[in-house]
Amino acid sequence: MDLREECRGAKRIGISGHIRPDGDCVGVCLSLQMYLRKLLPEAEVTVYIQKPSEEFSYLKGYDEIQTECPEQDPFDVYFALDCSGDRLGDAEKYFQNAKKKINIDHHISNSGCGDVNLVRPEVGSACEVLYHIMDAELIDRDIAEALYTGIIHDTGVFQYSNTTPETLQAAAFLISFGFDFSKIIEESFYQKTYLQSQIMGRALMESIRFMDGRCIVSMVDRKTMDFYNAVPGDLDGIVNQLRNIKGIDCAIFMYETGVLEYKVSMRSNEKVDVAKVASFFGGGGHVRAAGCTMKGTFHDCINNLSLHIDKQLRGEQD
Ligand code: 5GP
Ligand code: MN
Repeated sequence: MDLREECRGAKRIGISGHIRPDGDCVGVCLSLQMYLRKLLPEAEVTVYIQKPSEEFSYLKGYDEIQTECPEQDPFDVYFALDCSGDRLGDAEKYFQNAKKKINIDHHISNSGCGDVNLVRPEVGSACEVLYHIMDAELIDRDIAEALYTGIIHDTGVFQYSNTTPETLQAAAFLISFGFDFSKIIEESFYQKTYLQSQIMGRALMESIRFMDGRCIVSMVDRKTMDFYNAVPGDLDGIVNQLRNIKGIDCAIFMYETGVLEYKVSMRSNEKVDVAKVASFFGGGGHVRAAGCTMKGTFHDCINNLSLHIDKQLRGEQD
């Protein structure tokens, strides 16, 4: 994809990523904004996403992020990044009404929702997909920092199997700009607030193993969220911690989003394709990390998920 060609003549460009933006989502939106401003100095380029965690406030453009989407004239070009059009939240109307829609993503569950699509499920992060279509000459320290942030978040600091030689080559080029990468990894990825650590401890303590110890689940209900005054972002990392437990093939973490409604996160080690499981329930994601929203009691949800996980563990096709 040639970004200069695709945006030629555009005066107003909008950019959005998925609801509950994570490091990859924030990094890809802000790096594209900085890049397009250099590529097309005449164009007005704006990012519309839900307020990202303060952990990302070191990124250039963080303070300019628009979190409200008031009615306005159609954009000349609108980018949906790190997701398909149905996960843009309030900004979906901007994308759908734009004169030209561009979708850049790496989710296997996304078949492309733009007039122009670049969806590469084999690539570990949306930031890496974007990096490969950028002109290296235009990348500067701020853009490099934002791309690097997305790459480390979606590869678990180069640990997950979505890390490739190309990922490390990209990272090698990016850190040559001299930003403090150790600090970014420590403060945006590993560091937890006291509250986040407490709620994680509680979730681990209350977790339950099932299917002969190959699966594990934990749930945080509304009451507990209120007790700790926690927001969904405070629960990040819990499902990864569950997946780290020896002997676990599939980890499930859920939190209550409404009456008989749960947001479900799944992680797997080698055997289970959790994107496939999530897609049965209207969600999606990647083979080793996926999610969905489910209705019913906690036990209904677990029973329904187990059915699909068990089939995969027994080697049956759905
Ligand atoms: P997480 O469990 O960290 O929220 O998400 C893991 C992966 O699955 C991410 O790539 C995320 O974008 C994707 N994902 C999580 N929930 C949903 C969902 O409800 N629908 C879709 N399509 N993808 C999801
Ligand atoms: Mn991503």
